[in-house]
Amino acid sequence: MQKNHIELQSDTQTRPTPQMREAIAGAQVGDEQGFNDPTVTALVERVAELFGMESAVLLPSGTMCNQIAAAVHCGPGDDIIAERSAHIIGVEAGGISVLARAGAYPIDGERGVFTAEQAEAAIRPPRRYAPRSRVISIEQTVNLKGGTIWPLETIRGVGEVAKRHGLKMHMDGARLLNAVVASGVSAKDYSKGFDSVWLDLSKGLGCPIGAVLAGSSDFIDAAWRWKQRIGGAMRQAGIFAAAGLYALDHNVERLAEDHANAKALAQLLAPLDGLGVEPENVETNIVIIDVSASGADAETWSRRLGEEGVRLAGIGPHILRALTHLDVTAEEVERAADIFATLAQGEFAPS
Ligand SMILES: *Cc1c(COP(=O)(O)O)cnc(C)c1O
Repeated sequence: MQKNHIELQSDTQTRPTPQMREAIAGAQVGDEQGFNDPTVTALVERVAELFGMESAVLLPSGTMCNQIAAAVHCGPGDDIIAERSAHIIGVEAGGISVLARAGAYPIDGERGVFTAEQAEAAIRPPRRYAPRSRVISIEQTVNLKGGTIWPLETIRGVGEVAKRHGLKMHMDGARLLNAVVASGVSAKDYSKGFDSVWLDLSKGLGCPIGAVLAGSSDFIDAAWRWKQRIGGAMRQAGIFAAAGLYALDHNVERLAEDHANAKALAQLLAPLDGLGVEPENVETNIVIIDVSASGADAETWSRRLGEEGVRLAGIGPHILRALTHLDVTAEEVERAADIFATLAQGEFAPS
């Protein structure tokens, strides 16, 4: 578990703690695809309950949750409506066009959140020339727009539009629990009205692998057929489901620390010349840093920060993204901000 740098690149970089490894070592296991792994069963029942859904299924990754949900909801030629920055559109190797054989209809939201009016305008009229609009997908929280929380009223408004037009609602809840902890709205309230919703175990929850997809019993039956088809059915998966149960017990409330650390980082960076940071928009564990007014691009910043011991990456030519998580301490955030300050006032000072 040793690391000799400050890891701000992603909350996927967390290593299982000794306590989590103990839970993994002690897991009771069986055949997952035969429904005989008691630890997997306990985890999926717990997540279904958390979301207020009938059923759930364990998958190796969040990407597979998105892809299977899309494949269950859509037929060939259908449209998935989502925000332009959405993971399901831009970060899954075009999977929706391969598996679901669906297209993407991107909406430009405000920090990743679109309105009910925008959703309505994105739904195509039912004409034989047009793709059939089939799903509205939202990301809670919005990854590439800085961890924005979708407000409950906005979700409900979009949900009403979907219902009126007979569309399915899908929630990419990779960081749903960050939204829950930051807002105080329960996972059940956020999930109400959705046909499919999932959470990632391998992000802020600190597990090495896994994600859980939930929905109605019929939806999960159909999801199982896709899971089997694309090789997501597993054997002694209780080995990592145990980490998931451990995380739900121990690593949820502490997400508030990550949010405080992200806010602190933003507040320390905001006054620095050449850096565009908006602390008021840091709602969860993600900080967006615009370096366009500095004397270097994102790639150069990322390389130099790395050499100084701070790991983080660019998500655009002039945009850096920093994430906090359970392997980043408040003290490390201060040290990282000091390193930013040295570069901002020195070699990358605006000319
Ligand atoms: C990480 C992420 C995914 C994919 O999850 P993996 O477990 O990495 O496959 C999907 N959506 C969002 C918003 C994410 O941040």
